Amino acid sequence: MLDFSQAPVIDNHCHPLDTAKSAMTPELLAREFFHGMGDLPKAGVKGRHWGATDELRYHFPFMGVVQTMVCQLARVLECPPELEAVAAERNRRTSESFTDYVRLLYQDGRISATVLDTGVPVNDPILSLMPGRVMRLFQMSPAVKRLLDEAESYTELLRSYQEAVETAVRRDGFVGVKAHLAEEVGFGVEPVSAIEAETAFGPAKKGDPEAYRRLYVALFCATLLQGQELGVPIHLHAGITGGVWNGPISNADPFLLVPLLTRPEFLQTKVVLLHGAHPWIMHAAAVAHALPHVWVDMGWTTPWISLRLVECYREIVGMAPLSKVMIGSGGHGTPEIAWLAAVTAKIALREVLGDAVRLSLMAERQAERVGRMILHDNAARLYGL
Ligand SMILES: [Zn+2]
Repeated sequence: MLDFSQAPVIDNHCHPLDTAKSAMTPELLAREFFHGMGDLPKAGVKGRHWGATDELRYHFPFMGVVQTMVCQLARVLECPPELEAVAAERNRRTSESFTDYVRLLYQDGRISATVLDTGVPVNDPILSLMPGRVMRLFQMSPAVKRLLDEAESYTELLRSYQEAVETAVRRDGFVGVKAHLAEEVGFGVEPVSAIEAETAFGPAKKGDPEAYRRLYVALFCATLLQGQELGVPIHLHAGITGGVWNGPISNADPFLLVPLLTRPEFLQTKVVLLHGAHPWIMHAAAVAHALPHVWVDMGWTTPWISLRLVECYREIVGMAPLSKVMIGSGGHGTPEIAWLAAVTAKIALREVLGDAVRLSLMAERQAERVGRMILHDNAARLYGL
């Protein structure tokens, strides 16, 4: 009988914790898992942070992922499986020590290391709140926006951007670059030459969105080459990038990336497709199978698709090399997200790999090893831990 509950986990995709989230009403705790839009618009604010009417608020506790969070939190906190009860008990514990509460959950999920996607300074105290080893990604989009303001030409922008990436990796030990190609441009892109980028520079700097997209693609292609040179992977949100309101989401299918990624010059750049590319998980699996340099991270899908997680893991292990699948969470603010991703990934793997054993598709020792690889070892290998 497979059991991964004690297996260590590397969370390959997470954002920082937020001490402001140490005390939360039951509704706010549930709403942490809501990646949709509010229905009370606020000017200049992203739809996810808009207000919610009573009608919308009614639905927050009934998201499948919130039901699973309540169910699992009730187990850890030894209280009834009710949103009010688990929220009260977690708040009682966080009022004593938020750090200890975070540790309790990370210990329950056996999360030993985290790859963090954030722009906070390298010595920001918020980083030490995360238990275990913390690895950082360099964020491409904010760097491009900041450096575009200062640069006078594409050549100058490219130089300052590449210097920033190199410093992050070589001096500060960052383990990869996070780009937002799906959100900023969409996946179906052709490379943009340096001459085209130079032409796009002036209009992009003045705020022309189409010129900015061309500039972004030019810099993205340069990033692919630089990632190869520095030996670090490039992480890309794929599929649901965080919410369907968030950028050109219908253009975030991994199949659309194939023409770009199969170009000979990029074949040795490691690329990690994040969020399991949900709902295009089988497309991500096929791309990871066919292209030598593509990995898949099951973050966001774990834990958000909790009630369908077994099917999601079946889809990814069906075709992707099992040595190229990793787990992540997309966690942010509250520790419950990353913890729930680890816990639910273990449940899904036990079920999917257990079926493979039952059907004589794998021996138990093979399934045991593969489960541990997906939870931990594949990421450890990718980052050379
Ligand atoms: Zn994410």
